[in-house]
Amino acid sequence: MYRYNDTEIVVVQGDITKVKVDAIVNAANNTLLGGGGVDGAIHRAGGRIILEQCKKIGGCPTGEARITVGGNLPCKYVIHTVGPIYKDGKSGEEELLYNAYYNSLKLAKEYNLESVAFPSISTGAYGYPLEKAMKTAIKAVIDFIEEENFPRIINFILFSERDFSIYNDYLKSLLKDK
Ligand code: ADP
Repeated sequence: MYRYNDTEIVVVQGDITKVKVDAIVNAANNTLLGGGGVDGAIHRAGGRIILEQCKKIGGCPTGEARITVGGNLPCKYVIHTVGPIYKDGKSGEEELLYNAYYNSLKLAKEYNLESVAFPSISTGAYGYPLEKAMKTAIKAVIDFIEEENFPRIINFILFSERDFSIYNDYLKSLLKDK
C-alpha cells in the first residue's frame, strides 16, 4: 500500500468486478453499450440495469466520464469512462487518457464516492503500451489528489501479474511504502 497526502493507493492483482468500493471505473467505448474485456465483464456481472442507464445516457466522448449504479456488483456505482485508441502516441492519446482518469475522479467527488477502483484503461483492445499508460494514470491521480485532497482510497486493479508488477515497481520508486 502507498500513500499520497491523505489518500491510500492500493495496487491489487485481480478482477475489478469483485471489488467492494464506492465506485469502480469501466474502460468503456463511446457507445457505452458494452464491449469486450473489462467492459463486458462489468456488464455481465452488473446486470441489465447498468445497460439500461447507459442507453439513457446515450454515449460518452473520449476522455469524459458518466455514472450509473452498480447493479449486482459489490460496488455502489460504476463510472464509465472512455480511453483513447492508441495510434502512434502523437495523436493526443496522452491528454485523452489523462482526462479519462481525471474526469472519473471529478465525478467520484461530485457523488462523494470515497473509494474508487481503476482498471488499466486503454491497454487491452485499445493497444496503449502499459508502461506509458500507467505513468499517465498515476500522474492524473496524483494531480487530482494534490488539487482536491480526494478520494480517501484509490485501487488500481490489474488483471495480469505482469501489469501488477509494473505498477508496484513504479509506485515503489515514486512513493513510500506504508
Ligand atoms: P480497452 O478497450 O480500454 O483497452 P480492455 O478491457 O480491452 O480495455 O483492457 C483494459 C485492461 O483491463 C486490460 O489490461 C485487461 O487485461 C484488463 N481487464 C480485463 N478484464 C478485467 C477485469 N475483469 N478486471 C480488471 N481488469 C480487467
